[in-house]
Amino acid sequence: MSKIILTGDRPTGKLHLGHYVGSLKRRVELQNSGEFDEIFIMIADAQALTDNSDNPEKVRQNIIEVALDYLSVGIDPEKTHIFIQSQIPQLTELTFYYMNLVTVSRLQRNPTVKAEIQLRNFETSIPVGFFTYPISQASDITAFKATTVPVGEDQEPMIEQAREIVRKFNSVYGETLVEPDILLPDNKACLRLPGTDGKAKMSKSLGNCIYLSDPADVVKKKVMSMYTDPEHIKVEDPGKIEGNCVFTYLDAFSTPEDFAEFLPDYENLQALKDHYQRGGLGDVKVKKFLNNVLQKQLEPIRARRHEYEKNIPEVYDILQRGTKIAYEAADETLKEVKNAMKINYFDDAELIKIQSEKYASEE
Ligand code: ATP
Ligand code: MG
Repeated sequence: MSKIILTGDRPTGKLHLGHYVGSLKRRVELQNSGEFDEIFIMIADAQALTDNSDNPEKVRQNIIEVALDYLSVGIDPEKTHIFIQSQIPQLTELTFYYMNLVTVSRLQRNPTVKAEIQLRNFETSIPVGFFTYPISQASDITAFKATTVPVGEDQEPMIEQAREIVRKFNSVYGETLVEPDILLPDNKACLRLPGTDGKAKMSKSLGNCIYLSDPADVVKKKVMSMYTDPEHIKVEDPGKIEGNCVFTYLDAFSTPEDFAEFLPDYENLQALKDHYQRGGLGDVKVKKFLNNVLQKQLEPIRARRHEYEKNIPEVYDILQRGTKIAYEAADETLKEVKNAMKINYFDDAELIKIQSEKYASEE
């Protein structure tokens, strides 16, 4: 069986460090591993409209931002098809058929959707499109026969929903769709990177992000004002590591080489943590180190982005080429789905023949 990747992001803002460690970095590694037959990355504009229907301009403007972020982290359009969700109507059509295989109560139980409804104050006025986006996401995944979906932890319930739809579809209509596997980051700190404010998740909607495209001085400012341990007031005080996002970011980003380069007094991250917990290590020193670590990783990303920013029409060409390939792949799957569901009247010579014979014999 082919090994196929499908993943994507909502064009609701620029991409941030959470996207980077939760999914983007892995995508680039997988892309360059040569182990996959096909890789699709989707800019999920139709999904972004499910909770931004009153602000289509925001979605429209952010498509290029997400595309630039992809290219800047090393997504290579020669190896990966980058496409725009709304330009592939087959995805919507699949969603319509899959809706019959999912119950309302099943959607209501989805913990990510529950949390997002709360975050957006949708409790009494949930748009139907938003409520059903896990089904639409199952269409995105299955349309490309994806075997592997590299995403952050918040996407686990979505992949489970997609797997259930595949099983249900195949058991009712015959073996047609492929069950996808989720691929989570190996590093625990990357499963759900917290925001700079210490909140559980760095998220565009929460405004607690360090963006991949933030200039160096903005990154530094955000790092220096990051949430740490509120009880660690004086340098001598013992500090807490748990819930201290500066250390979570170091878990996610720092390497042994970073210590040799920027903080040679400490052998590794554990030594730094030990000192902080003992007392006698100030937040400023740790934050300065984190800033160096982040700048080192972000600098080449920013530089590549600036190159692509000089040629926006070329970026749109890349999107158009990727979308064309994705369209054909999704069309192929939709045909198979409709055949399996027997909604292929005009191509079904057998159906026409049997019905002709039936009426002929009645004459
Ligand atoms: P929004 O607030 O509009 O939902 P978002 O910041 O949550 O935006 P998405 O586009 O919903 O971003 O997520 C895209 C991908 O990035 C998903 O695979 C998701 O799991 C991953 N991701 C997003 N935020 C984080 C994070 N803080 N840590 C790890 N992975 C993340
Ligand atoms: Mg999200």
